Amino acid sequence: MDKELIRSLPQVDAVLRNEYLTELDDRIPHAILLSAARKAIDSARQRILSGELTDAAEISVESIAKAAADIAEEASMPGLRRVINATGVTLHTNMGRARLSKSACKAVIEAASNYSDLEYDIEAGQRGSRHSHIEKTITDITGAEAAMAVNNNAAAVMLCLSALGRGREIIISRGELVEIGGSFRIPDIMEQSGAILAEVGTTNKTHLADYENRLTEETAALLKVHTSNYKIVGFTEDVSLEDLAALGAKTGLPVIFDLGSGLMTDLRGIGIDEPTVKDSLKYADVIMFSGDKLLGGPQCGIIAGKKQYVDMMKKHPLARAFRVDKMTIAALEATLREYYDVEKALENVPVLASVAAPREKLRTRANHLAKGLEKASPSIRAKVTKCIDQVGGGSAPTAELSGFAVAFYSDKVSADELEKAFRLGKVPVVGRINKDNLIFDVRTVTDAEIKLIIEKAERLGAEGRI
Ligand SMILES: *Cc1c(COP(=O)(O)O)cnc(C)c1O
Repeated sequence: MDKELIRSLPQVDAVLRNEYLTELDDRIPHAILLSAARKAIDSARQRILSGELTDAAEISVESIAKAAADIAEEASMPGLRRVINATGVTLHTNMGRARLSKSACKAVIEAASNYSDLEYDIEAGQRGSRHSHIEKTITDITGAEAAMAVNNNAAAVMLCLSALGRGREIIISRGELVEIGGSFRIPDIMEQSGAILAEVGTTNKTHLADYENRLTEETAALLKVHTSNYKIVGFTEDVSLEDLAALGAKTGLPVIFDLGSGLMTDLRGIGIDEPTVKDSLKYADVIMFSGDKLLGGPQCGIIAGKKQYVDMMKKHPLARAFRVDKMTIAALEATLREYYDVEKALENVPVLASVAAPREKLRTRANHLAKGLEKASPSIRAKVTKCIDQVGGGSAPTAELSGFAVAFYSDKVSADELEKAFRLGKVPVVGRINKDNLIFDVRTVTDAEIKLIIEKAERLGAEGRI
């Protein structure tokens, strides 16, 4: 241990007075700067004690202040940060699923910064219903009799099963006992809801007679769950929603359909073969779907269908526990409004614009990015490649969207180091590594973000890091 070095460690005050920290004074609270200065000095002390730090230059006021400035910058960054998603996966659950439309963002700011008629009926001058705002839009667009929104689709399923099936049996095919993203499992939700699971059929085949034979006095409903994140292929058979609806009509039992994604318009033309909300409502009495999958809105779960059932759910005690915030209602309503004109929705709802992006547009974007990266550092070699993109978020598992990406490497650093350099720092860019190349898929990157990536590459290039 070098006692001399320990003694010459700078004082906190001296570090705080250094330009590196005074520069940050107007942006970063003093308490954070103070704590950063202490941490920087402390860390140097530890490194001297362990024999790692032996050079006096490293403990100059300036060196310590520079380290403290980095610590302060890091500490003052928000916990939830913007990320550039260069994975090509449009509905990336780890990166927040749907990006909202401009109109939805505007509506959120309006709702957040003002009082509103959230639960106030302006016409009548008295208390109104929180559900009314989106109910009107959903019923207009889909033709459903009634609708409501809760926190997410898992909550929607839970509420529905609880309101319609508590203490009684709900029949479901063994081929549809799905797990979505680890924590959502139909059998577990069913158990929590208090409804009793009545499984019928086998994993690969379920016939209408299986449902019929399972009917008892205790049957409360027939449930169909869309296998949104996998497909059973080969020797398979399931009962269509239409046939299940016929059995429901015959027996007077409600038919519930968890369709998952909430697709509002037919996207089979681009290879996305998912049930649409409208088609599902033709047969089911109640449907549930996510707000932030292919619908392209905020996180929420939407319940739509016959008024008698939706009313039971609105009155259920869980509805209060699962209720959505005003900002969600604002964003959802604005998103739904985009669907009054489907052509426009394909442009204005970012999720749809992303999955339906024309190939030429993606190619141009990729070309632009590849050129920008090569210009940023003489060590970078970039080329545009074709790729197959997934929709993500447990939607359309077999859909293969053909897109473009930039594959690049640096003569200077390994692919791992390159990946890390782009992922860390001010504007995190998340891509993937494939055979010594870093891949940036441009489907999920806007033109404005291409510019940010190039600027970041230029900074890294200028610092000699890539
Ligand atoms: C995604 C999905 C859910 C869960 O929805 P969240 O909004 O993520 O809670 C439930 N059921 C199906 C069929 C799904 O696809």
